[in-house]
Amino acid sequence: MLRLQGINAIIALIAVFALLHLAFVPDAHTFRTTISTLLGGIAFLLMTCSVILATRLEVFEEMFGGLDRMYQVHRVAGTFTAVFALVHFFFIPKELPAGVDPVANSTFPSAQIGMAAMVLLVIGLFVALNRKISYSRWRNPHKVMALVYILVIGHFMNAPGIFFERFSASGILLILATLVGTVALIYTAFGMNKRTAQHYTIEAVNALERATEVVLKPVGDMLKFKPGQFAFVEIQGKGWSEPHPFTISSAPGEDRLRFTMKVLGDWTRKVREELQPGGEVIVRGPYGRFDASKAESKKQVWIAGGIGLTPFLSKLRAMDADDDRDIHFAYAARNKEEAIFLEELQAIAAERDNLTLYYFFSEDGDFARVDAAKERLPGALTDYEYLICGPKPMVEGLMKDLKKEGVKRKAMHVEAFEFR
Ligand SMILES: Cc1cc2nc3c(=O)[nH]c(=O)nc-3n(C[C@H](O)[C@H](O)[C@H](O)COP(=O)(O)OP(=O)(O)OC[C@H]3O[C@@H](n4cnc5c(N)ncnc54)[C@H](O)[C@@H]3O)c2cc1C
Repeated sequence: MLRLQGINAIIALIAVFALLHLAFVPDAHTFRTTISTLLGGIAFLLMTCSVILATRLEVFEEMFGGLDRMYQVHRVAGTFTAVFALVHFFFIPKELPAGVDPVANSTFPSAQIGMAAMVLLVIGLFVALNRKISYSRWRNPHKVMALVYILVIGHFMNAPGIFFERFSASGILLILATLVGTVALIYTAFGMNKRTAQHYTIEAVNALERATEVVLKPVGDMLKFKPGQFAFVEIQGKGWSEPHPFTISSAPGEDRLRFTMKVLGDWTRKVREELQPGGEVIVRGPYGRFDASKAESKKQVWIAGGIGLTPFLSKLRAMDADDDRDIHFAYAARNKEEAIFLEELQAIAAERDNLTLYYFFSEDGDFARVDAAKERLPGALTDYEYLICGPKPMVEGLMKDLKKEGVKRKAMHVEAFEFR
């Protein structure tokens, strides 16, 4: 769940900047100049927040509620950056203000640099928001945003003093943001991947119904993670391209790391058809906050749709013998064949008094819906906390209907399985 701590920090930063900017307006400013510089500054601060969120640092996961939420905020901050930058552009005075040396101004062309940054930003945003452009095609061009950030810094650092007063209170705040943002950018480009990389060899590739289980043996230390967390999997070798995020389906404490990957597109198909034991894999993580231990109530309903089973698989495999929660686990799949690991789940449920399994097979017309849950669950729906992972329409439908039944949003914990 998105945590408000991070959002509030961003809002507070912008509010402080706006207050400082408006409290100490230079005499030479016209109304247009004040507004355009205010909007430009806000756009830059939002972009800096976006850059900082791309570092994937754990401290921000805590503030925002997980890496998937951080990436969602990163995208929204990027969108607002473009909006503020565009309005900033339309407010800029068309004439050079009195006192600005035209020669000096053309030697360091702040306006042209800003224009180049804005064009790239708007194109980048269009690509990022266009879901028809596949993730792998979007990923590398998206790195141009680092250049845009540098151009924006060049734009305001070169701006005539009337537009950017370096030693005003709001100017100093922007300079500090520049320093932090630049360090974050350098860390993301050169440090982040090295810091988090762990090496594994592929021990087994097990074909399941429309999915593949990949079993990895650590070369050095085993990744430390909590059930429900995910990691980036980067297969070494030609043609495997970018890292892909997958939830760890093994339990912490096992001597192997297991991922269960649904065959969805080119990369996951290649895993199924070409991946061989013996190959090398780099795993980066762990990330995510889909953690049942954060649920306050001991009465919990876990709902998995299709491959949304993976975080629950890890939780179930890790469950202590003396676990005293009352867990109702609903597993929705197209049919029995696609309900992977069903036998293992049945075996786990048979051993425990605190776990009740329910199946929903859509081919039989049985969907994981709130009305069905109401019929099967003992007690009221509001007695439980819900952990949900599955296809977006299923998750959104469940959340809407649970809300109608009076279940509070904070009693619903959701894993998205997507960043964009
Ligand atoms: C936090 C998280 C946990 C996940 N856990 C699992 C899991 O346990 N099992 C499972 O089967 N799937 C999981 N996924 C989804 C999995 O990452 C995608 O299905 C997979 O990357 C698709 O790759 P593809 O090229 O085969 O398919 P494509 O058809 O190319 O991609 C399908 C969708 O996957 C996403 N995607 C593709 N490539 C990447 C990438 N490199 N990085 C991020 N997202 C990408 C995009 O949203 C895209 O629209 C998880 C995703 C996230 C974000």
